[in-house]
Amino acid sequence: MRYDNININREKSLIRSDDLDKIAIDDIEHKSKVRIGFSEFSINLYNNTKNKILKELNASEEDWNNYKWQLKNRISSVDEISNYIDLTREEYENIKNVSEEYRFAITPYYFSLTDFDNPNCPIKLQSFPDIRELEDGGQLDPMNEEQSNPSGRITRRYPNKLIINVTNACPMYCRHCQRRRLIGKFDKNTSREDINESIEFIKNNKTLREVLITGGDALLLSNNHLERIFNELSQISHVEVIRIGTRVLATLPFRIDDELASLLGKYKVQLSTQFNHASEITLEAVQAIDLLVDHGVLVRNQMVLLHNVNDDMYCIQKTNEELQKYRVIPYYLFHPKDVKGIGHFQVDIDKGLEIMKHLEGRTSGMCKPTYVYNSPGGLGKVPLVPLQNIEPVENGYKFTTWENRIFTKNFDD
Ligand code: SF4
Repeated sequence: MRYDNININREKSLIRSDDLDKIAIDDIEHKSKVRIGFSEFSINLYNNTKNKILKELNASEEDWNNYKWQLKNRISSVDEISNYIDLTREEYENIKNVSEEYRFAITPYYFSLTDFDNPNCPIKLQSFPDIRELEDGGQLDPMNEEQSNPSGRITRRYPNKLIINVTNACPMYCRHCQRRRLIGKFDKNTSREDINESIEFIKNNKTLREVLITGGDALLLSNNHLERIFNELSQISHVEVIRIGTRVLATLPFRIDDELASLLGKYKVQLSTQFNHASEITLEAVQAIDLLVDHGVLVRNQMVLLHNVNDDMYCIQKTNEELQKYRVIPYYLFHPKDVKGIGHFQVDIDKGLEIMKHLEGRTSGMCKPTYVYNSPGGLGKVPLVPLQNIEPVENGYKFTTWENRIFTKNFDD
């Protein structure tokens, strides 16, 4: 089709297009250095360790793909780690000492994604106990969840939504977990009485329209147990949205099968997950995402900004672009909370803002999460946007674009 009435300046357009190409080529070059789950390198790492584990445990491919087998065979002691890698005496002692304070457990699946030769492997940093966890600083409950619990196992911080914590169990105990105080020494689901009391509170409170079922990892509950909760919530007329918080897509993708995806689809449950690095987005993870999305389940990602794991603009860009490619909506980028034992994951807010500035214009708005800081004391999330984007000036505003070009808009324009 020709636009005969429109005065296209093809020459200027091509110059601009060439300039944009230069930026895109530079981005592609940087992003190619970010490890992704689908690379040959990642697949080889995975298969090598997976085969070693299957041999050691005398298990089959069918066992591997069975989430119950994965849970039963979690790697949860330093001796089990040393079955697969050579630890120095110091590394052995460090893992042992930390795990006495904060237990650990890693599914064989997630463990097999580790690049053991890279001290800053994002998989290893998120799953292996680290001696820096014993450093001073941080708080056990920076969000004051213990004082936002009006009934049962509810956490309420907002006017029209709340959380029910249904378990303390997770397939893997992430080293950066904000709720590590609840992990304790044993896995324990919330009692039937506490769930009933929580649902009763929601029933009696018509202001509540959204319920997030989380933990721990809510998808460690059995399908029957989940269905009972979904069913009761769906009968409350003022509850419009049921959400579930889970990290199984990254840590135990085999948990998602047809039966569970149908159950979530049936109750129109929306799912929030946590991928923090592109190397977690594997073939197995994408098969699980496909099952969910094909059953009509909305999947959003809540990433945590973590030092050495993903505090790099190209890593964040690549990870969110991978998520978009596989139909997961990048939703939040959480600034790390001031939790005891995770000081080594802390990042300056300036760094987070710099990453957000980079994403503007460099990638689609669909690949851009909202960067948020959680206020202490459970006062809620504060969205963080680069400071220089908008500034009040006399009679208007000054705007700065993603390329740092400046324009102003006056109130009377
Ligand atoms: S899955 Fe979530 S709740 Fe469980 S340890 Fe990881 S971050 Fe914490």
